[in-house]
Amino acid sequence: MIAGCPVCGGALRGPIARFRYDCPVCSYACAGSEIATGGDARVRLREDRREAALAPLRARNFEIVLDRLAACGAAGGRLLDVGCAHGWFLDAARRRGYIASGVEPDRDVASKAVQRGNDVMHGLFPDVLPAHTQFDVVVFNDVFEHLPDPRAALRSIAQAMPPGGLLAINLPSSRGAFYRLAEGLRRLGWRGPHDRLWQVGFPSPHLSYFHPDALARLASGSGFEEIERRALPSIARQGLWQRLRYDSQASWISCAVTWLAVSLAAPVLQRLPSDISLTIFRRLPDTPTTRQRADTVAAESPDAGGAGTIAATR
Ligand SMILES: [Zn+2]
Repeated sequence: MIAGCPVCGGALRGPIARFRYDCPVCSYACAGSEIATGGDARVRLREDRREAALAPLRARNFEIVLDRLAACGAAGGRLLDVGCAHGWFLDAARRRGYIASGVEPDRDVASKAVQRGNDVMHGLFPDVLPAHTQFDVVVFNDVFEHLPDPRAALRSIAQAMPPGGLLAINLPSSRGAFYRLAEGLRRLGWRGPHDRLWQVGFPSPHLSYFHPDALARLASGSGFEEIERRALPSIARQGLWQRLRYDSQASWISCAVTWLAVSLAAPVLQRLPSDISLTIFRRLPDTPTTRQRADTVAAESPDAGGAGTIAATR
């Protein structure tokens, strides 16, 4: 059970909306076990629609991630994409000269990525990584928010890269306009948008939401320094309809109303804080101070120590 904030060690407040726990100090929010990973929820999602829906937005954002990594000094080398799904990011990374590998827990999805020539380890991060393998760059695209223990994951990453290695985390942000709008609507009694953002009932719901400051604080306790932060586009009109329709239980009418509202509001929404943030961190050399800080936060938060594995992605 959730005992303390993994970012600052403070007491979490909740449950809010039946499953959510918030840290009033650092704005970290996480889902408790009440969110109940939906065993057979997979059947609700139309994978064909989901793939078509997300492809245009992801392709654009992946190029931005690779551009920013290059601007931060990444120059090829070994790259690990955790939760690589169909291998789209691996394709883009290989085109830029990286020796790219992925980890993917879904066997069918992993095999599709392999069929296109990618090197993909089927299983959970970090369990399937070969011992002593080191990566120059590690990337999480829409995966970090699904991890049951983000701090343990950061410790595992630190062990899998040399000092100077780069870590890119691209994830939903609690600073975003949609997140704040959904929270406002929830307070007024309409939980639908809030639960949809957290992916309640999906095979792998979101387990945490970070403000970018909280993510930086968590990473700094695990031996990383932030070197780049920026918002990424979170909506694209291309693919929006399929994105709304891949939850097969959502009614046609409600999807149509949402599609119309988002399409009309797009010019305004694009000026508001984005719901996706990208942060790039550099792995610091090991010092007694960084080791001690990681140990201190771990000791303050009793739920520490669980495996930093991912149950599923996206
Ligand atoms: Zn906190």
